[in-house]
Amino acid sequence: MTLRLSGLVRGVPTSGTMAVDERMQALRAAGRDIVSLGAGQLDFDTPAPVADAGREAITRGRTRYTPVAGTVALRKAVRAKFERENGLLYGDGEVIVGAGAKSVIYHALLALVDPGDAVIVPTPAWPSYTPMVAMAGGRVVPAALTAADGYQLTASALRAAIADAEGRACGLIVNSPHNPTGALLPRERMAELAGVVREAGLWVISDEIYEPLVYEGEFTSFAAADGMRACTLTVNGVSKGFAMTGWRIGYGGGPAELVRGMESLQSHTSGNPSSVSQEAAEAALRLSLAGDPRLQAERRRVNGALVARRDLLCRALCAIPGVALVRPAGAFYVFADFSGLFGRTIAGRMVQGSGDLAEILLEHAGVAVVPGSVFGDDRCLRLSFAAASEELETAMARIAHTLT
Ligand code: PMP
Repeated sequence: MTLRLSGLVRGVPTSGTMAVDERMQALRAAGRDIVSLGAGQLDFDTPAPVADAGREAITRGRTRYTPVAGTVALRKAVRAKFERENGLLYGDGEVIVGAGAKSVIYHALLALVDPGDAVIVPTPAWPSYTPMVAMAGGRVVPAALTAADGYQLTASALRAAIADAEGRACGLIVNSPHNPTGALLPRERMAELAGVVREAGLWVISDEIYEPLVYEGEFTSFAAADGMRACTLTVNGVSKGFAMTGWRIGYGGGPAELVRGMESLQSHTSGNPSSVSQEAAEAALRLSLAGDPRLQAERRRVNGALVARRDLLCRALCAIPGVALVRPAGAFYVFADFSGLFGRTIAGRMVQGSGDLAEILLEHAGVAVVPGSVFGDDRCLRLSFAAASEELETAMARIAHTLT
């Protein structure tokens, strides 16, 4: 018997990044040496004092249900983080902890979107926003991000997207620092965007998961812009900043009625996030806010390594004729435009788009990258610099050899 799956699951595309990963695993299993620049996580370990807090949580029997929105202690640490680092004051009923930033964003969309509503997503974009909006019954209307604008959303692009939504625009998702381009939204730009958001009466989900990974410029929370506090959910987490992707802890701060709605939905889906992970996340936030020297040293080491890797990758990419890029100010990806190579035959194959190029690089250069089509821009490839410098050097030598 064949199972008849729901329209929902049939309508949701399988993750493009996972498809690249599966092909890479298959080639590795067949004995091929593949360097991966596809990763969405740091190759550093969770800082020792944070991992210790997780171990201690198990030893102390912190293994039961917690309040659905997270332990009182973790929510307190989250509020302190928002206040001290972002200038955002949230009350206890205005923060919620979930199983990763992903889960927080999903529950927010479920709480905000009605069937037929349009959510504006600056594109290229993290590939999960569109399926999450669809699962909430809405549809995404893209706002174009361009290399000419440094991939920073402009007020005119936002206005154009609102017009495209034909009266159905209800909200906007902003993501700074941005995946896949690494762009950082400056404060003045946020003020302009806030004006448009106010005019159109939108809500905003501000995905700030890459906040600790900023190399140039100053990070600002969107909710700090004029009038945005009351209509914005600020989403953050420990995944990227503390090398804790596997622990699955994200959090959000925003208007109490929204947070209550999300909590109510979460009580029926995942329930509370892992009790053990919450204790580790609390330690990460507390130690970081207290200026713990071990965490500070680790942050300096990680960010120093990432800047060196970014520069290495950008230099090597710029040396390939036909490749153009905007240097990322944050996160750990370079989104490089390879369309100058389209129409050429490489390794016996005509290159027509980012998918062709990614396959050629995987099969012939032994380097895994993510095609830009996955993010909604077929001219580009996303190369992650969350890989050791030696791996980046090997990967870029192989790519240059295959392409030039
Ligand atoms: N937002 C963006 C832009 C991301 O890149 C990611 C992780 N790839 C997430 C959210 C999800 O973060 P978490 O692992 O905390 O769910």
